[in-house]
Amino acid sequence: MLLSCPFRLISTLVFVVVCVACGESIPTTPAQSVPEAHIDPELQPFLESYVDDAARAGAPVEPDRLAELKRLEWVDEVEGAGDGEELNLGQCARGNENSIRASERFRTIKITRPETAGIHLNRAQGQLTLKAIVYHELGHCLHNYHGHRPVAEQVIMSAALPEKRFSEFNELLVEHFRMFR
Ligand SMILES: [Zn+2]
Repeated sequence: MLLSCPFRLISTLVFVVVCVACGESIPTTPAQSVPEAHIDPELQPFLESYVDDAARAGAPVEPDRLAELKRLEWVDEVEGAGDGEELNLGQCARGNENSIRASERFRTIKITRPETAGIHLNRAQGQLTLKAIVYHELGHCLHNYHGHRPVAEQVIMSAALPEKRFSEFNELLVEHFRMFR
């Protein structure tokens, strides 16, 4: 049934909240210890392509900001789960954000596996969905974007996954990086 009814699943996804507490600051007093660095090998290509795409689009990621990103990892569930039909697929958190010492500042990204959230997609759809989720969180963490664009705008930084990620991802990218030029 899941395979025979993909559009239903996709349209459900449109209303999924991509992340809660996005860009939340981890309390800074006392200063938190910087977590051990870990970029998941499965997610690393998305990080690398984001940095490349940003540079090509004229909105390069600042090296200091990139250095602050200590973790990009899978989790079973992002804390602060949404209610009802909302699912939290990712989170960017900032640690010691106001520290004057760059070595103390850090950022971490957690990504929920769509499958564990009960979302089943074919491989191509899954990769585009994952890319949209990771790029959304990188928008928070690497381009320091707080908050969300309205869901109706259907952009990567909207509070829900844009449905057109399956057909117009390049257009989404242009819109995304235009925000940060
Ligand atoms: Zn977000």
